[in-house]
Amino acid sequence: MRLSQKIINQVKREGRLVLLEPEAKQVCMDYGIPVTRFKVASSVAEAAQYAVEIGYPVVLKIVSPDVIHKSDAGGVMVNLQTAADVQNAYQKILENVKNYNANAKIVGILVQEMAPQSTETIVGAIKDPQFGQTVMFGLGGIFVEVLKDVSFRIAPITADDAKEMITQLKAYPLLTGFRNTPPADIDALVAILLSVSRLVMENPEIKELDLNPVLAYQKGAKTVDARIILE
Ligand code: ADP
Ligand code: MG
Repeated sequence: MRLSQKIINQVKREGRLVLLEPEAKQVCMDYGIPVTRFKVASSVAEAAQYAVEIGYPVVLKIVSPDVIHKSDAGGVMVNLQTAADVQNAYQKILENVKNYNANAKIVGILVQEMAPQSTETIVGAIKDPQFGQTVMFGLGGIFVEVLKDVSFRIAPITADDAKEMITQLKAYPLLTGFRNTPPADIDALVAILLSVSRLVMENPEIKELDLNPVLAYQKGAKTVDARIILE
Protein backbone atom coordinates (compact mmCIF):
# COMPACT_ATOMS: atom_id res chain seq x y z
CA MET A 1 0.00 0.00 0.00
CA ARG A 2 1.39 3.43 -0.79
CA LEU A 3 2.40 5.83 1.98
CA SER A 4 -0.42 8.28 1.27
CA GLN A 5 -3.05 5.55 1.71
CA LYS A 6 -1.40 4.42 4.96
CA ILE A 7 -1.49 7.97 6.32
CA ILE A 8 -5.14 8.46 5.34
CA ASN A 9 -6.09 5.10 6.90
CA GLN A 10 -4.31 6.00 10.13
CA VAL A 11 -6.13 9.38 10.30
CA LYS A 12 -9.46 7.59 9.81
CA ARG A 13 -8.60 5.03 12.51
CA GLU A 14 -8.01 7.90 14.90
CA GLY A 15 -11.49 9.16 14.07
CA ARG A 16 -10.24 12.35 12.43
CA LEU A 17 -11.33 13.99 9.18
CA VAL A 18 -8.64 16.65 8.89
CA LEU A 19 -5.04 15.72 8.19
CA LEU A 20 -2.44 17.66 10.14
CA GLU A 21 -0.09 19.78 8.02
CA PRO A 22 2.79 17.26 8.27
CA GLU A 23 0.44 14.41 7.28
CA ALA A 24 -0.99 16.38 4.35
CA LYS A 25 2.53 17.27 3.21
CA GLN A 26 3.63 13.64 3.36
CA VAL A 27 0.66 12.72 1.17
CA CYS A 28 1.72 15.48 -1.24
CA MET A 29 5.32 14.26 -1.26
CA ASP A 30 4.08 10.78 -2.08
CA TYR A 31 2.68 12.28 -5.30
CA GLY A 32 5.82 14.23 -6.09
CA ILE A 33 4.42 17.60 -5.06
CA PRO A 34 7.27 19.82 -3.77
CA VAL A 35 6.83 20.91 -0.14
CA THR A 36 9.03 22.74 2.37
CA ARG A 37 11.36 20.43 4.34
CA PHE A 38 9.97 19.84 7.83
CA LYS A 39 10.20 17.93 11.11
CA VAL A 40 7.84 17.78 14.09
CA ALA A 41 9.45 18.69 17.43
CA SER A 42 8.11 17.85 20.86
CA SER A 43 10.50 20.00 22.89
CA VAL A 44 12.34 23.31 22.58
CA ALA A 45 15.68 21.48 22.40
CA GLU A 46 14.40 19.25 19.62
CA ALA A 47 13.08 22.28 17.71
CA ALA A 48 16.48 23.98 17.92
CA GLN A 49 18.19 20.77 16.76
CA TYR A 50 15.81 20.42 13.80
CA ALA A 51 16.35 24.08 12.86
CA VAL A 52 20.07 23.33 12.47
CA GLU A 53 19.35 20.18 10.42
CA ILE A 54 16.89 22.01 8.15
CA GLY A 55 18.99 25.17 7.99
CA TYR A 56 18.15 28.73 9.07
CA PRO A 57 15.97 30.68 8.57
CA VAL A 58 13.07 28.48 9.67
CA VAL A 59 9.35 28.74 10.34
CA LEU A 60 7.61 27.25 13.42
CA LYS A 61 3.95 26.23 13.38
CA ILE A 62 1.49 24.64 15.73
CA VAL A 63 0.46 21.04 15.00
CA SER A 64 -2.95 20.47 16.54
CA PRO A 65 -6.12 18.78 15.33
CA ASP A 66 -8.00 21.61 17.11
CA VAL A 67 -6.27 24.43 15.19
CA ILE A 68 -7.16 24.39 11.50
CA HIS A 69 -6.31 28.00 10.63
CA LYS A 70 -2.97 28.20 12.33
CA SER A 71 -2.20 31.91 11.92
CA ASP A 72 -5.62 32.88 13.35
CA ALA A 73 -4.46 31.20 16.55
CA GLY A 74 -1.03 32.89 16.55
CA GLY A 75 0.36 29.51 15.61
CA VAL A 76 2.78 30.52 12.84
CA MET A 77 6.11 32.33 13.32
CA VAL A 78 8.21 32.97 10.23
CA ASN A 79 11.77 34.03 9.45
CA LEU A 80 13.45 32.72 12.62
CA GLN A 81 17.19 33.29 12.31
CA THR A 82 18.79 31.93 15.49
CA ALA A 83 18.38 29.29 18.22
CA ALA A 84 17.11 32.05 20.52
CA ASP A 85 14.46 33.00 17.93
CA VAL A 86 13.37 29.36 17.77
CA GLN A 87 13.16 29.05 21.57
CA ASN A 88 11.10 32.25 21.88
CA ALA A 89 8.81 31.32 19.00
CA TYR A 90 8.24 27.83 20.41
CA GLN A 91 7.05 29.22 23.77
CA LYS A 92 5.08 32.03 22.15
CA ILE A 93 3.17 29.67 19.84
CA LEU A 94 2.20 27.39 22.74
CA GLU A 95 1.07 30.44 24.73
CA ASN A 96 -0.94 31.89 21.80
CA VAL A 97 -2.65 28.59 21.08
CA LYS A 98 -3.50 28.11 24.75
CA ASN A 99 -5.15 31.56 24.76
CA TYR A 100 -6.99 30.73 21.55
CA ASN A 101 -8.31 27.37 22.75
CA ALA A 102 -7.37 26.20 26.24
CA ASN A 103 -8.41 22.63 25.38
CA ALA A 104 -6.48 22.32 22.12
CA LYS A 105 -4.58 19.06 21.90
CA ILE A 106 -0.94 19.81 21.00
CA VAL A 107 0.74 17.18 18.82
CA GLY A 108 3.98 19.13 18.49
CA ILE A 109 5.62 22.09 16.82
CA LEU A 110 6.45 21.91 13.15
CA VAL A 111 9.89 23.22 12.21
CA GLN A 112 10.22 23.94 8.53
CA GLU A 113 12.38 25.51 5.92
CA MET A 114 11.55 29.17 5.31
CA ALA A 115 10.67 29.45 1.63
CA PRO A 116 11.86 32.68 -0.04
CA GLN A 117 9.01 35.09 -0.79
CA SER A 118 7.53 34.96 -4.25
CA THR A 119 4.20 35.07 -6.06
CA GLU A 120 1.64 33.12 -4.00
CA THR A 121 -0.64 30.73 -5.81
CA ILE A 122 -3.37 28.43 -4.52
CA VAL A 123 -3.90 24.89 -5.75
CA GLY A 124 -6.99 23.14 -4.52
CA ALA A 125 -9.42 20.30 -5.06
CA ILE A 126 -12.99 19.78 -3.99
CA LYS A 127 -15.24 16.79 -4.39
CA ASP A 128 -18.32 18.16 -6.10
CA PRO A 129 -21.47 16.14 -5.31
CA GLN A 130 -22.38 16.15 -9.01
CA PHE A 131 -19.09 16.25 -10.92
CA GLY A 132 -16.77 14.48 -8.47
CA GLN A 133 -13.16 15.48 -7.90
CA THR A 134 -12.51 18.97 -9.24
CA VAL A 135 -9.15 20.76 -9.36
CA MET A 136 -8.81 24.49 -8.69
CA PHE A 137 -6.11 27.10 -9.35
CA GLY A 138 -5.80 30.75 -8.42
CA LEU A 139 -3.40 33.43 -7.25
CA GLY A 140 -3.02 34.10 -3.54
CA GLY A 141 -4.39 36.99 -1.52
CA ILE A 142 -7.13 39.18 -2.96
CA PHE A 143 -7.27 37.35 -6.28
CA VAL A 144 -9.12 34.32 -4.94
CA GLU A 145 -10.75 35.81 -1.85
CA VAL A 146 -12.01 39.13 -3.24
CA LEU A 147 -11.93 38.89 -7.01
CA LYS A 148 -12.88 35.18 -7.24
CA ASP A 149 -10.37 34.90 -10.07
CA VAL A 150 -10.10 31.10 -10.03
CA SER A 151 -10.31 28.30 -12.54
CA PHE A 152 -11.81 24.84 -12.08
CA ARG A 153 -11.58 21.63 -14.09
CA ILE A 154 -13.17 18.28 -13.41
CA ALA A 155 -10.48 15.68 -12.68
CA PRO A 156 -8.66 13.88 -14.15
CA ILE A 157 -7.03 16.72 -16.04
CA THR A 158 -4.43 16.72 -18.83
CA ALA A 159 -1.34 18.93 -19.06
CA ASP A 160 -3.21 21.10 -21.59
CA ASP A 161 -6.11 21.50 -19.14
CA ALA A 162 -3.68 22.47 -16.39
CA LYS A 163 -1.96 25.02 -18.60
CA GLU A 164 -5.32 26.53 -19.57
CA MET A 165 -6.35 26.76 -15.91
CA ILE A 166 -3.33 28.97 -15.36
CA THR A 167 -3.38 31.08 -18.52
CA GLN A 168 -7.14 31.78 -18.40
CA LEU A 169 -6.87 33.67 -15.10
CA LYS A 170 -7.28 37.43 -15.28
CA ALA A 171 -4.22 37.64 -13.02
CA TYR A 172 -2.15 35.46 -15.36
CA PRO A 173 0.06 38.42 -16.46
CA LEU A 174 1.36 38.48 -12.87
CA LEU A 175 2.92 35.07 -13.58
CA THR A 176 4.59 36.12 -16.81
CA GLY A 177 6.87 38.68 -15.19
CA PHE A 178 6.21 42.33 -14.45
CA ARG A 179 8.29 45.18 -13.00
CA ASN A 180 10.87 43.46 -10.80
CA THR A 181 9.06 40.12 -10.49
CA PRO A 182 10.61 37.47 -12.76
CA PRO A 183 8.33 35.14 -14.75
CA ALA A 184 7.05 32.11 -12.83
CA ASP A 185 7.86 28.51 -13.79
CA ILE A 186 4.52 27.62 -15.41
CA ASP A 187 5.62 24.02 -16.08
CA ALA A 188 6.26 23.51 -12.36
CA LEU A 189 2.70 24.72 -11.60
CA VAL A 190 1.30 22.46 -14.34
CA ALA A 191 3.13 19.51 -12.77
CA ILE A 192 1.61 20.29 -9.35
CA LEU A 193 -1.90 20.53 -10.83
CA LEU A 194 -1.45 17.17 -12.56
CA SER A 195 -0.16 15.57 -9.36
CA VAL A 196 -3.09 16.96 -7.38
CA SER A 197 -5.47 15.58 -10.00
CA ARG A 198 -3.90 12.11 -9.66
CA LEU A 199 -3.83 12.38 -5.87
CA VAL A 200 -7.56 13.09 -5.54
CA MET A 201 -8.57 10.59 -8.24
CA GLU A 202 -6.66 7.81 -6.49
CA ASN A 203 -7.93 8.81 -3.04
CA PRO A 204 -11.67 9.32 -3.50
CA GLU A 205 -12.17 9.73 0.27
CA ILE A 206 -10.56 13.18 0.00
CA LYS A 207 -13.31 15.82 0.16
CA GLU A 208 -11.12 18.88 0.06
CA LEU A 209 -7.47 19.64 -0.61
CA ASP A 210 -5.94 23.07 -0.17
CA LEU A 211 -2.32 23.93 -0.96
CA ASN A 212 -2.27 27.53 0.18
CA PRO A 213 0.11 29.02 -0.59
CA VAL A 214 2.20 27.39 -3.29
CA LEU A 215 5.05 29.81 -3.96
CA ALA A 216 5.86 30.13 -7.66
CA TYR A 217 9.52 30.71 -8.50
CA GLN A 218 11.44 31.44 -11.66
CA LYS A 219 12.57 27.84 -11.37
CA GLY A 220 10.23 25.46 -9.54
CA ALA A 221 7.45 26.02 -7.02
CA LYS A 222 7.01 25.06 -3.38
CA THR A 223 4.03 24.20 -1.19
CA VAL A 224 4.28 26.03 2.10
CA ASP A 225 0.98 24.93 3.68
CA ALA A 226 -1.22 21.92 2.93
CA ARG A 227 -4.62 20.92 4.23
CA ILE A 228 -6.56 17.77 3.35
CA ILE A 229 -10.07 17.01 4.59
CA LEU A 230 -11.70 13.57 4.32
CA GLU A 231 -15.42 12.96 3.81
P1 ADP B 1 -2.58 28.91 8.00
O1 ADP B 1 -3.05 29.02 6.59
O2 ADP B 1 -3.05 27.64 8.67
O3 ADP B 1 -2.90 30.11 8.83
P2 ADP B 1 0.16 28.80 6.90
O4 ADP B 1 0.98 27.59 7.11
O5 ADP B 1 -0.41 29.00 5.53
O6 ADP B 1 -0.97 28.82 8.03
O7 ADP B 1 1.05 30.06 7.30
C1 ADP B 1 0.55 31.40 7.19
C2 ADP B 1 1.43 32.21 6.23
O8 ADP B 1 2.78 32.21 6.67
C3 ADP B 1 1.49 31.63 4.82
O9 ADP B 1 0.41 32.06 4.03
C4 ADP B 1 2.82 32.14 4.31
O10 ADP B 1 2.71 33.48 3.85
C5 ADP B 1 3.67 32.14 5.57
N1 ADP B 1 4.45 30.88 5.67
C6 ADP B 1 4.07 29.74 6.28
N2 ADP B 1 4.99 28.77 6.16
C7 ADP B 1 6.02 29.32 5.48
C8 ADP B 1 7.30 28.83 5.03
N3 ADP B 1 7.71 27.59 5.30
N4 ADP B 1 8.08 29.68 4.33
C9 ADP B 1 7.68 30.95 4.06
N5 ADP B 1 6.50 31.46 4.45
C10 ADP B 1 5.67 30.67 5.15
MG1 MG C 1 -2.27 28.54 4.70
